Amino acid sequence: MTYDFDLFVIGAGSGGVRAARFAAGFGARVAVAESRYLGGTCVNVGCVPKKLLVYGAHFSEDFEQAEGFGWSLGQANFDWATLIANKDREIQRLNGIYHDLLVNSGVTLMESHARLLDAHSVEVDGKRITAKHILLATGGWPHIPELPGREHAISSNEAFFLKTLPKRVLVIGGGYIAVEFASIFNGLGAQTSLLYRGELFLRGFDGAVREHLQDELSKRGVVLQFNTDLERIDKQADGSLQVTTKDGRVLHTDCVFYATGRRPMLDNLGLENTGVKLDKRGFIQVDEQYQSSEPSILAIGDVIGRVQLTPVALAEGMAVARRLFKPEAYRPVNYEHIPTAVFSLPTIGTVGLSEEQAKADGHRVSVYESRFRPMKLTLTDSQERTLIKLVVDADNDRVLGCHIVGPEAGEIIQGLAIALQAGATKQMFDDTMGVHPTTAEEFVTLRTPVAS
Ligand code: FAD
Repeated sequence: MTYDFDLFVIGAGSGGVRAARFAAGFGARVAVAESRYLGGTCVNVGCVPKKLLVYGAHFSEDFEQAEGFGWSLGQANFDWATLIANKDREIQRLNGIYHDLLVNSGVTLMESHARLLDAHSVEVDGKRITAKHILLATGGWPHIPELPGREHAISSNEAFFLKTLPKRVLVIGGGYIAVEFASIFNGLGAQTSLLYRGELFLRGFDGAVREHLQDELSKRGVVLQFNTDLERIDKQADGSLQVTTKDGRVLHTDCVFYATGRRPMLDNLGLENTGVKLDKRGFIQVDEQYQSSEPSILAIGDVIGRVQLTPVALAEGMAVARRLFKPEAYRPVNYEHIPTAVFSLPTIGTVGLSEEQAKADGHRVSVYESRFRPMKLTLTDSQERTLIKLVVDADNDRVLGCHIVGPEAGEIIQGLAIALQAGATKQMFDDTMGVHPTTAEEFVTLRTPVAS
């Protein structure tokens, strides 16, 4: 049987673009359908615009701290509309780059919705197109739970396009997107509260990191409320929102921002026309090679719900392209030691195991920790402190986890991820010369364990 294409990719986000470009580079005939925006979540409503907003939010501290270094700036003013317009311009530029990347690699780009018709065909703009392999890279979508007044709440999708900065924001959720947006809104001048139904946010992160961020956000004026959830949201005559919590309290705000998880994007995808199965969480079920229960259909990225990060979607896209069209270069994706940053203010960087996870996995651990005031802040009134933590296997000296909460944590953690990937021991850290004076040098000067 001859097909129109060797590979049809649904979704031109992080994973889909990577798979399509490389498959075309390996000589395959490739088409991509994208219904919304080139570059997907990360470029349009995820990593990129979020980081730009975090940079924007950081200036309020920078201005305050500048005085300690002799600068006087007068009254600083912030204009949300300018930030959003400049952000939009940059995203448009990136959309263009993604367009050119695809087209210049020989990929046929269809800027439309795609729907599966059967195991080898999709429908785009009313036309049936056949392909030997179909790759689902449709990503995820914010999930706002059912509750009265849900329509008054926004998610990250809308936050990037608000016309004005709300005076008061209530962030609901305990994941990384919740703490990042709480930091953004707070840094830009909104009165910000974060409300989470669990004991403490950032479940799965190291306990010391979670507590440190809790202290730092509180110091910056973010009001944190744990062990509580929303019952309902009511719009008031003046446009503000009245929020009732499950424990019966009434709060007033101008914006309720939900960051309570993301569901796989399967809307009108036509899965029912194929044998593709979902796992028990509702994500597309795939095997180790990203093959679904329909052999010609594969899936990668957020829609399989494994690790929902851009570099992981990219790696999965690359693995699929190689496996199908350049098998001699195939390397399985390595899910160990995935470094991550949470771009809260201050930022978290983490790689490897938390102390709690290391213990749960049966390791006997030595823990090294340092908490200090970063040098840059010594001439300022800022009371921010930085946390550095190493989790070490006490039996074989292997470093199991590195954690930092402080400036440039995301930049610092990348290099440490290479060390962990290479199997570095604590002795190797100790034998490494520091870069002085930096925050990062603390990772090679921690001598005394705080707990065993
Ligand atoms: P996506 O990038 O979501 O792309 C899927 C694409 O498929 C979309 O463009 C969509 O329009 C399209 N599509 C869906 N259905 C169809 C259809 N039927 N037909 C045609 N097209 C379709 N990750 C990080 O690593 N670092 C971060 O700092 C970070 N920050 C984030 C901040 C926020 C607010 C959010 C929401 C996410 C963030 N992420 C971050 C996660 C990251 O964005 C995702 O992991 C990544 O984008 C997943 O890539 P993907 O290819 O699986 O899907």
